[in-house]
Amino acid sequence: MSNYKAPVRDIQFVRNEVLDFDTHYRGLGLHDVNAELCDAILLEAAKFAENELAPLNRSGDEEGCQLTANGVQAPKGFKAAYEKYCEGGWPSLSAPEEFGGQGLPGSVDMMVGELMGQANQSWSMYPGLSGGARATIYAHGTDEQKALYLPKLIEGAWTGTMCLTEPQCGSDLSFLRTKAEPQGDGSYRVTGTKIFISSGDHDLAENIVHIVLARLPDAPAGTKGISLFIVPKYSPNDDGSLGERNAVNCGALEHKMGIHGNATCVMNFDGAKAFLIGEENRGLACMFTFMNGARVGTAVQGITHAELALQGAWRYASEREAGRALTGIKSPDRPADLLIVHPDVRRMLLTIRAFAEGNRALAHFLIKYIDVSAYSKDPDLVAKGDKMLAMLTPIAKGFMTENGLEAANLGMQVFGGHGYIREWGMEQNVRDARISTLYEGTTGIQSLDLLARKVMGSGGELLNLLAGEIKASLADLNDDEFTPVLLKALAEWQVITAEVGAACADDVNELGSAAVDYLMMGGYIALAWMWTKMAVVAKQKLSEKEDSFYRCKLATARFYFQKILPRTLTHAALIRAGAESVMSLTDDDILSYQQ
Ligand SMILES: Cc1cc2nc3c(=O)[nH]c(=O)nc-3n(C[C@H](O)[C@H](O)[C@H](O)COP(=O)(O)OP(=O)(O)OC[C@H]3O[C@@H](n4cnc5c(N)ncnc54)[C@H](O)[C@@H]3O)c2cc1C
Repeated sequence: MSNYKAPVRDIQFVRNEVLDFDTHYRGLGLHDVNAELCDAILLEAAKFAENELAPLNRSGDEEGCQLTANGVQAPKGFKAAYEKYCEGGWPSLSAPEEFGGQGLPGSVDMMVGELMGQANQSWSMYPGLSGGARATIYAHGTDEQKALYLPKLIEGAWTGTMCLTEPQCGSDLSFLRTKAEPQGDGSYRVTGTKIFISSGDHDLAENIVHIVLARLPDAPAGTKGISLFIVPKYSPNDDGSLGERNAVNCGALEHKMGIHGNATCVMNFDGAKAFLIGEENRGLACMFTFMNGARVGTAVQGITHAELALQGAWRYASEREAGRALTGIKSPDRPADLLIVHPDVRRMLLTIRAFAEGNRALAHFLIKYIDVSAYSKDPDLVAKGDKMLAMLTPIAKGFMTENGLEAANLGMQVFGGHGYIREWGMEQNVRDARISTLYEGTTGIQSLDLLARKVMGSGGELLNLLAGEIKASLADLNDDEFTPVLLKALAEWQVITAEVGAACADDVNELGSAAVDYLMMGGYIALAWMWTKMAVVAKQKLSEKEDSFYRCKLATARFYFQKILPRTLTHAALIRAGAESVMSLTDDDILSYQQ
């Protein structure tokens, strides 16, 4: 039996007490969406996650997926859980009402998605990519495509995939080779091999809608010659019923470190019937609708891995006995004191907690801008929100997944050798967490997106916007404990930006060698901002009444500021150390190296 408990109280704290989602929804004209409704959805999602998904997490990991003559079979119980998920209306939560959705904002979907992913990351990736397929068709598809594909994706009868990666290209899609030949009747035939396709084939749903990047015969080289296609596993008839089986198949399942319950497929397209989405050669721009959503979804996995580490390690350290407190025996009636007496164990527990709860606040803060983009009628607000999102998305994806992985590792460490043993689930959490810093753009790629495209590319406008928002919010919060520390770190980040800008005018490798440290600095600052917001609420509540929940919040905020935020000093020093030592070997030195 799984011990997973949905962190309902903390989600309510972030949404209702810190980020005031009620006012947010009212401001967007969403008068029916309020804390009462969202809490009811949250509690139902918590039940589903705890009772249906969490019990399949370990068995799914151990059993894995099987490739059979009839395609891929997901682990036992996954299909039945998916059927219940669809019966419960979960896939349609934030889908447009005109196609059968419930029309709730994306922030509600994210709240639910956090719980499903925590309970069972592998399972959650089957429906998880359908939202991106749906959003891409909704944004760029024709009216006919929307009418044909959206209702089925929204009810969950069909799922979606995202097909970019090929053996020779992942981060750099300019070498993409998959071909699309026009057939003269408005359709195309796609031929090529995609690898690492999450949920590429499975037995959970009757049809799979692949969203595929491919090249037309006369397309320009590079990323300007890539188009986007819908390739259904079964071609749908006009009435939505299933037609011919299409020439797209899973050729192999990847053998991998974690997320064993999710099918990571080599997908062979052998002249598969396909339909263009958007304009020819503009496919990558359309695919960004999918990728931007998937990046936020992957950032949320950073909450997951820290939360699972927190739940396991906190419980274990409160029960396991080893050694005696440095200050003297705490439990004379026991052979040893509890692990929680040891400062180093506390350091690990609080680090995990600071990341889990800080990440959650940052994700909910960021998703508000996605709601604004979808619902606001004020073009200035939408433009500002889109800029904040552009700046915060690579930070959230890169930083939250990196710290989620650190937390997962610390979770294992708190268990000592027992953490390395399967029984406790901590080693699965580490294995499952590892992918999150790699897919949807590695941390290196996110950091270049942040520093080169977003910060330098906007001439500093996006950084100044974020810095201005942080300063304005700190002025409103009116807190003199955390604010000066955060302002100092922020000012240092801005100074570093100018220094990198100046250095890379002479040597652009300065930018490349600084990028990951730069992103991490931004991440620590963003989390410090969230912890300030949370600490201010906690102080207010504690001034009214003693409460362990708020005491933990305030203590974790103080720990974050004193023991984690100073990591920005190291990142600043590493950036200032420049590119010289990084680039001092010649390419020939590296190429000639032999063991
Ligand atoms: C389990 C799993 C599931 C996946 N799911 C999907 C999916 O559903 N759909 C899909 O299309 N893909 C999927 N992927 C692929 C994934 O998105 C890619 O593996 C990832 O984008 C990295 O590409 P790559 O593996 O080709 O690495 P490469 O691009 O070869 O990168 C190798 C290393 O070089 C660095 N690097 C590369 N280029 C640069 C640069 N310009 N500057 C600095 N550093 C650079 C990278 O950061 C990385 O550290 C999945 C992968 C896995 C393992």
